[in-house]
Amino acid sequence: MPYNAGTRLPGERASRLAHLDVLKSELVNKLIESYETNSLSANKNNSIWEPLPNKEEPLPIIFGIDGSMYPIESEIPPHKRLAFVKTALLRIDQFALAKIDKDCPHPLALRDILADSALYHATVFPLRNVSIPGINTYHTIRQIIFESIKDKSLNGEPMETLKWLAYEKWDGKHKQLKPFGCPHCGQDVATLPYDAETGKCPGCSEDLFLTDMLGFHLDMIFDSAPDTIATTYMNIHEVLLLFTGIRYFWEKNKQILSDCLFVKDGPLTIRAQYSKLVNPIRRFLAYARDQGCPVNIIGQEKTGRFYDHLEIIGKEAHSGHFFIPNNQYIKEEIQQRPNTGAPYGKDTNYGAKVFVKLNDYHQMVLNVPTGDYDYIDKPAISNLIGANRIFATLPTIISNRYEGGLLPIELAHGIASLSTYPSAHILKIFSEEKK
Ligand SMILES: [Zn+2]
Repeated sequence: MPYNAGTRLPGERASRLAHLDVLKSELVNKLIESYETNSLSANKNNSIWEPLPNKEEPLPIIFGIDGSMYPIESEIPPHKRLAFVKTALLRIDQFALAKIDKDCPHPLALRDILADSALYHATVFPLRNVSIPGINTYHTIRQIIFESIKDKSLNGEPMETLKWLAYEKWDGKHKQLKPFGCPHCGQDVATLPYDAETGKCPGCSEDLFLTDMLGFHLDMIFDSAPDTIATTYMNIHEVLLLFTGIRYFWEKNKQILSDCLFVKDGPLTIRAQYSKLVNPIRRFLAYARDQGCPVNIIGQEKTGRFYDHLEIIGKEAHSGHFFIPNNQYIKEEIQQRPNTGAPYGKDTNYGAKVFVKLNDYHQMVLNVPTGDYDYIDKPAISNLIGANRIFATLPTIISNRYEGGLLPIELAHGIASLSTYPSAHILKIFSEEKK
């Protein structure tokens, strides 16, 4: 996802509505007053912000992860619709970072980094009116998801990572899959033997893929699929790339793992039925921390309510400060709803939200895992895995090309961006039927 153009505006608050003398109603005037008042005035004091901790050693090895999704629809009936998805992972170290001009990176310096240390994955989904003879869209997409995660160009590593997460293979306890909804008979009895990628449904004996446990089929009908299938696949694949890097070092060299920072575009969230991966991820991060091997991950949110909220509260904050909103603050001040019901993100998030203001040009919404087996209502900095070293690393990876920009994400975006690589025009030419 690209960085937004700078949205910082002068703090002018002159009323744009005052001249409308039609507004005589008391209710309307109250609404206007509310419109023109910063609804967060109660929090204008800086007491919610805390100073960033004293500097520790920055993390020397950085990974950036990003993805993109690009739907294409033919202009002639029956309007065939395809979605291209690309994800990328890139490695960069402090030595290379130091050589990059933060204001105006030299294209050749960037090219060298990308050529040596990036990998990417690409696939395509037939969403509507494109099918393989004899198989409907529903089963075609199930198969594409399975085969794409086994992507040979990545040596099938993301599939190994999915197995590692689904069967929680890090502690050697041979955890069984929880039964899930079968994509054929719909019964909640589907499962697979330990470490298997495929098997048969105990209810109907039809073929199952490990990827069916994620529940993509619940969002599809037989002859078409929504765009969200492609965006969700992209999000899941980003998580699998992230954990492929983590799993690699976990198995090869745990000392190096704790010296890495993984920087993912977007929140550390897996929504709806796909959130089945969230608890295994939390359990791994807690297990690794308890084994003395903290895994440093951040997700960056560049749009949405948290981002918009920071645009407001960031103005009042001093440089070099951070703020971790608790459940009550998130619900009442950011989502603007009563603090009732399930805690925010209880089943879907594997990181706490952290607002960071480094300086007047760089403020950002980060997600940092807490590594707790249970949900934490009021996370503190001591709960955030690797917080001190993560905060020490941030100044070394900021990009001066975008407000709040982080170089690892910017570089990963350059690889994952379908609009630039290959060009969207080329994709369009190939996807149109040639007469
Ligand atoms: Zn079945």
